[in-house]
Amino acid sequence: MIENKRGLLLVISGPSGVGKGTICKELLNDSTILSVSATTRNPRDGEENGVSYFFYDKEKFKTMIENDELMEWAEYCGNFYGTPKAFVESKLDEGKNVILEIEVQGAMKVKEKYPEGVYIFILPPSLEELKNRIIGRGTEDESVIETRMNQVTRELSFASEYNYFVENDKIENAVKKINAIIEAEKAKSDRCSAQLI
Ligand code: ADP
Ligand code: 5GP
Repeated sequence: MIENKRGLLLVISGPSGVGKGTICKELLNDSTILSVSATTRNPRDGEENGVSYFFYDKEKFKTMIENDELMEWAEYCGNFYGTPKAFVESKLDEGKNVILEIEVQGAMKVKEKYPEGVYIFILPPSLEELKNRIIGRGTEDESVIETRMNQVTRELSFASEYNYFVENDKIENAVKKINAIIEAEKAKSDRCSAQLI
């Protein structure tokens, strides 16, 4: 019998518009859940507080930092984003795989504290396709899109810090690859104990 007590911490990053959110939704099931981040950015149309994000003002965000409630936090394009720690820790202890869909600075802070995590970087098929997707999403105005596109080179410079690269050409291909990564990582001998009873 193989026992796999603690869940996997899956950290997924990649440039804005690459398809992280779309892919992550497809990965969810009874054993794999998504951490809901806190942010100071404004909600987009259709985003629900407590589901997409916890939308807080800067004061509340600062209080969370001071009270050590965040596993990591970072500033991205003028807004703060952070991962509430208690939720992630309790779910990992319950054996759930927890996905953090976060940007590179935060991911690097998590990697220092949780080297056993699985770090996945999502790449677009091309820069042109990335821009088409971010424009096609229709949730940001031109200046915000420009700011986000300006981050791409910096974000790519962190890619080699990740354990896996996944190209999001077609959503189903990317999802299939990540599910294969999850399966293989769960089976690693240093994450399991084997017993015959
Ligand atoms: P991110 O979370 O990385 O910012 P989203 O998941 O919001 O990106 O995706 C950005 C846009 O690209 C959305 O409109 C989404 O429907 C679209 N998209 C995502 N993956 C693909 C894909 N493989 N092919 C074409 N369009 C995609
Ligand atoms: P968006 O505004 O498009 O939802 O997110 C902008 C960026 O912030 C994305 O790269 C997203 O992955 C990242 N992000 C979302 N939540 C967090 C978080 O809790 N911490 C960090 N560091 N980045 C986050």
